[in-house]
Amino acid sequence: MARILLNNVSKRYGKFKEFAVKDFNLDIEDQEFLVFLGPSGCGKSTTLRMVAGLEDISGGEIFIGDTLVNDIPPKDRDISMVFQNYALYPNLSVYENIAFGLRIRKVPKFEIEDAVKRAARVLEIGSFLDRKPRELSGGQRQRVALGRAIVRQPQAFLMDEPLSNLDAKLRVQMRAEIIRLHKAIGVTTIYVTHDQIEAMTMGDRIVVMNRGIIQQVDTPEVIYNRP
Ligand code: ADP
Ligand code: ADP
Repeated sequence: MARILLNNVSKRYGKFKEFAVKDFNLDIEDQEFLVFLGPSGCGKSTTLRMVAGLEDISGGEIFIGDTLVNDIPPKDRDISMVFQNYALYPNLSVYENIAFGLRIRKVPKFEIEDAVKRAARVLEIGSFLDRKPRELSGGQRQRVALGRAIVRQPQAFLMDEPLSNLDAKLRVQMRAEIIRLHKAIGVTTIYVTHDQIEAMTMGDRIVVMNRGIIQQVDTPEVIYNRP
């Protein structure tokens, strides 16, 4: 669990290209649920990927907790990511999918079992740990993807449009699910979306972005109840 700090963070994909992200300054509080909101191409994913370490930054500094992570590779950043195409391993059971990240880190078997069961309890997926992903509904699969992300108890949780492949009804349900999950584990979260309703209902604060620039950072109440 940690605070995330962005100091003048910029990204340019090529020397002569426009900035995809320009001079971002953000102070994300420990355990906050922060939403990046803006139209396609405004730089939401780029920013998230820089926090994850999946994209080099062109300028500025990113801190996770007290650590300057600019030169720290993704696997050492202690963060988990969830994408819209929740990439579960098709040939592994739900249990094995959730356990995978711990197994490759040689975590002892009994600890893995505890961690998977804890994650399964939070997400209410304990009754189908033996199934394969293809035997699950879209919503169940997305919950397994969330299980994979929380099982290591990361310092931060990064979600990039995790619900955009789901149908409308499921999306509403999963929104509530993610909020519940966030309350239960209290991990600092950045959530990317272009959906105003999602931003409004989920965010502690919303970062409104446009063309690589932060336009406003505030609570949903302030952003949507302006006179
Ligand atoms: P969003 O997530 O808000 O849709 P992105 O962060 O994906 O926005 O993109 C921001 C800008 O950076 C866009 O202009 C996009 O075309 C550009 N961009 C994103 N990824 C790359 C890339 N790998 N190479 C070059 N340009 C990119
Ligand atoms: P896990 O499911 O535990 O993330 P993976 O094998 O998928 O295990 O990834 C190993 C490590 O590499 C992760 O802990 C993570 O730090 C990093 N990593 C891999 N893919 C990503 C990603 N898409 N986003 C962020 N980090 C990633």
